[in-house]
Amino acid sequence: MKTIKHACTLDCWDCCSFKVHIDGCRVVKIEGDRDHPYTKGFICNKGRKHLDRLYSSQRLRKPLLRTEGGFKEISFEQALDIMAHKIAHYVKEYGSQSIFHYEESGSGGVSKCMEEIFFNFIGGITKAKGSTCWGAGMKAQAYDFGNVKGHHLDDMHSSKLILVWGRNPHSTSVHLMAALQEAMKRGIKVIVIDPIRTETAKKADSYVQVNASSDIALAMAMTRMIIEEGLEDKGFIKNYTFGFEEYRDYLRGLDMDALVESTGLGCDEIKGLAMEYAAAKPAAIYPGYGLQKYKNGVNTIRAIDALAATCGYIGCKGGGVNYANRLYPEILSLDPYGSAEHAKNSRSFMLRDFSDAIEELKDPPIKMIVISKANPMNQLPDLERAQRAFSSVEFKVTFDMFMTDTASLSDLVIPCSNTLETEDLIYSSMNNPYISFNEKASEPENILMDEYYFFRELARNMGIKGYPMDEKLEYLKKVAKPLENCGYSFEDIKNGYVTVEGLSVAWSDMKFQTPSGRYEFVSKRAEADGLCAHPEFLVGEKNAGFRLITPHEKDSLFSQHFFGVEGISKALASPEELSKRNIASGETARLVSKAGEITVQIFGSEDVPMGTVYMNTGWHKSHGNPNFLTSSVSSERGEQLAYYESFVEILRQKN
Ligand code: SF4
Repeated sequence: MKTIKHACTLDCWDCCSFKVHIDGCRVVKIEGDRDHPYTKGFICNKGRKHLDRLYSSQRLRKPLLRTEGGFKEISFEQALDIMAHKIAHYVKEYGSQSIFHYEESGSGGVSKCMEEIFFNFIGGITKAKGSTCWGAGMKAQAYDFGNVKGHHLDDMHSSKLILVWGRNPHSTSVHLMAALQEAMKRGIKVIVIDPIRTETAKKADSYVQVNASSDIALAMAMTRMIIEEGLEDKGFIKNYTFGFEEYRDYLRGLDMDALVESTGLGCDEIKGLAMEYAAAKPAAIYPGYGLQKYKNGVNTIRAIDALAATCGYIGCKGGGVNYANRLYPEILSLDPYGSAEHAKNSRSFMLRDFSDAIEELKDPPIKMIVISKANPMNQLPDLERAQRAFSSVEFKVTFDMFMTDTASLSDLVIPCSNTLETEDLIYSSMNNPYISFNEKASEPENILMDEYYFFRELARNMGIKGYPMDEKLEYLKKVAKPLENCGYSFEDIKNGYVTVEGLSVAWSDMKFQTPSGRYEFVSKRAEADGLCAHPEFLVGEKNAGFRLITPHEKDSLFSQHFFGVEGISKALASPEELSKRNIASGETARLVSKAGEITVQIFGSEDVPMGTVYMNTGWHKSHGNPNFLTSSVSSERGEQLAYYESFVEILRQKN
């Protein structure tokens, strides 16, 4: 039996470190690395499922080409020839911008950057801007702090109070959940603020059921109450912030009754929460990504940042607004070949405009789409429209391990390797501050299933001048080279536990990366982007229907672990709402929106407030995917898809 080191490549906060056990040539077990300072020996089911996916009978092993008679297996060499021919044809006839590369972070690992490097070498292509995940909050913190940094998890044990705001780590981050439970054991109070009574809320000391999309109103009302009571941290504000007075005056001008009413909470309840937060000294906030999936997503996170800054809970032990933790993208040399210089013809459109752009872009039109690390025909909103637009493109290529909803609509499907079949460097920009080297646990059936080598061979086939022909290990060493300036060699990453997080407290040096060098209540960068310079109270969409909330399933990252799930998708709504419609819990019902309709099994749940339908994201088309109901709208400037601004009706199934 042999054991190797590997880390989870799923798009998750925790980036867990694994011990992978191999018996002969077969991987037999994945478990958490007990010695890893962050992983501490435990992982979640999604991590263990890498093994099921490695040996799944549903895995694609050969490239598939669409023919009139359906998909036909072809060799990797044929797939390379077809793709090379198509790219050359479209570049010659229409220019390289006629090729659209869509990627997400479905499978992490820095070697996946080679896809972008490849497309840079062909002269630049079309890409999408905006996020399906965390974009509005990232933009918000970039305005306020100049960058996005979080505290080490253990630092929360210096807090007196922790607000878990719109986040459900019970399902999405097992290490944050464990840290919260340890904090509660130590007597630190944990309050969950969320429209849904999540499993995290049930385990917390206290729960505040705020109306969906009104987190901004709650944060602003709390901040104003704190200022009215003279509880702001005057020293911190004077020494380290910019624009406080302007923001304070703005808050004073807001209609407090409207703010309070918007939250669905009582004035006393908000005041109690505000006073408790201000008095805690210090208190930490752990916001999630759901609360920025609204039209006011940027301003919501900015208002929460401003609440913490007003109390001086920035740069101190036990404080912070721990949204994410970007440590490595600016240190690593992710494009060591300077390929960006070749990408003279790049262009982009906003992700919310996916369908319009595909159907309407001219000069040149989109002729070819290449999809990697993503399943957009499952994850994009207004899916019926998106699928129509996608299908209208002449040639579509998808790289995936499985026949996903996107692959099934493609013309060429290239099977790719499982994480256990590939070596890589892996890090998270969300929570875990360690960078890991992934050893290969098993050989892929064909080396070209590793996208790094597929794109290298594609470049060779096309005769792309100057394209790097490095072996992957050489490339990874070049990427990691700048870490030597932090005192870490590539061997250190391979053999030990490496983090560049020198300070466990974000911004403890008070050197903010904003233009003023201070925390910015008022941001000229935001203003230059067309936003109000300070956080602005913007109300979310109002609608008579049920707001559709679609967070992650506990045992699946997006759509990846819904393969093999039988039956139709499940939804939850308040029992009272179901009874009004004469629908029994567990009955089959129709969910209908402006965008489309799906059939679900609907259950009554007291955890879901009136006027809300709760479903997990990731259900496949065959189950009933909620994205057939969602609207293609975004946060303020398109940074984030505003999935939660979608409204549905619940209708009885027709007999
Ligand atoms: S999905 Fe997240 S919590 Fe689960 S094993 Fe992977 S990194 Fe760890």
